[in-house]
Amino acid sequence: KSNGPWKYLSGNIQVYCRVRPAFGTEVKCSIDYIGNDGALIILDPLKSQLRKNFQFNKVFGPNVTQEEVYKETQSLIRSVMDGYNVCIFAYGQTGSGKTYSMCGPAIGSAKDIGINSMALNDLFQISCTREDIKYEIHVQMVEIYNEQILLDLYHFLLLNQFVSFTNFTLEIRNCLSNGGLSLPDATMHHVVSTSDVVNLMKIGDRNRAFSCTAMNNRSSRSHSVVTIHVCGRDVLGNKLQSCLHLVDLAGSERVDKSEVTGDRMKEAQHINKSLSCLGDVISALAQKSSHIPYRNSKLTLLLQNSLGGHSKMLMLAHVSPEAESYGETISTLKFAQRVS
Ligand code: ADP
Ligand code: MG
Repeated sequence: KSNGPWKYLSGNIQVYCRVRPAFGTEVKCSIDYIGNDGALIILDPLKSQLRKNFQFNKVFGPNVTQEEVYKETQSLIRSVMDGYNVCIFAYGQTGSGKTYSMCGPAIGSAKDIGINSMALNDLFQISCTREDIKYEIHVQMVEIYNEQILLDLYHFLLLNQFVSFTNFTLEIRNCLSNGGLSLPDATMHHVVSTSDVVNLMKIGDRNRAFSCTAMNNRSSRSHSVVTIHVCGRDVLGNKLQSCLHLVDLAGSERVDKSEVTGDRMKEAQHINKSLSCLGDVISALAQKSSHIPYRNSKLTLLLQNSLGGHSKMLMLAHVSPEAESYGETISTLKFAQRVS
């Protein structure tokens, strides 16, 4: 059972794979076998004898529901309330189901709600029921596009003033009070229910759509980071601080260099760089390397205090079942398994 460098930190790093359902009338499929034990076998559609084996902590097939995926994630969410920093990453090519897993078919939809909403329901539920600790929950939403941190939410927007956010970038700063790096508090929104957060996400989404027209659908080419900050205090005044990062990563597809120029080329280079930096950081953590290259990308810098140390991570690698996605599927699975 090869699990690459991930296996060293298996307690703190979980890697799951989710295969989305096939659409329409697909004849060929590259998924050969999905085991209950996390085994996945991929078939080369051109050479039907060629099979590649992968091993993850879990593999979810096309019929697995949102609730079933969340059930395997729930203990991580509960850890946040105990003071762990947690990162959940959705990785995969565009169209493989990253946003579906995180947000559901649409933000705020009542059916098939995503990990985000189910996690928030749990967090608020725990915060209401625990009598020994009083919790406060804040949320931040940013996007990382071309190595710039863009605000999806800002107080101005709540006051219904439209501002051009494409020019509104943030710097990560050293925040000594909580021992790590963070974004300015101005971007924090106090929330008391899942619907508070869903409403903020809708505003963020509207704002993103608003500032995107000029860049024609940036969403698959930026990393979306929703951060839930949890602050708890017990009766003695002891403070507990942690956060949950829900990260819908930019599409991992490689672009055909011969076809891409200008802005698209720049975007592709930034995405490649930040995704490979993320892989480098996780792999360095897994190998307990003395140098963890957090500073090589904005994404890893922003998440620095939630990667390594007192933290837990879930990589949810998404693949499309279609034969034509075979190349990207293999590359996603290799990233997730990090054996290449
Ligand atoms: P990505 O965010 O990776 O680009 P999406 O989440 O937008 O991909 O998924 C692409 C399409 O497939 C969407 O219409 C989405 O609703 C649908 N989809 C993805 N995963 C599933 C799933 N597990 N079950 C049903 N529909 C899905
Ligand atoms: Mg998406």
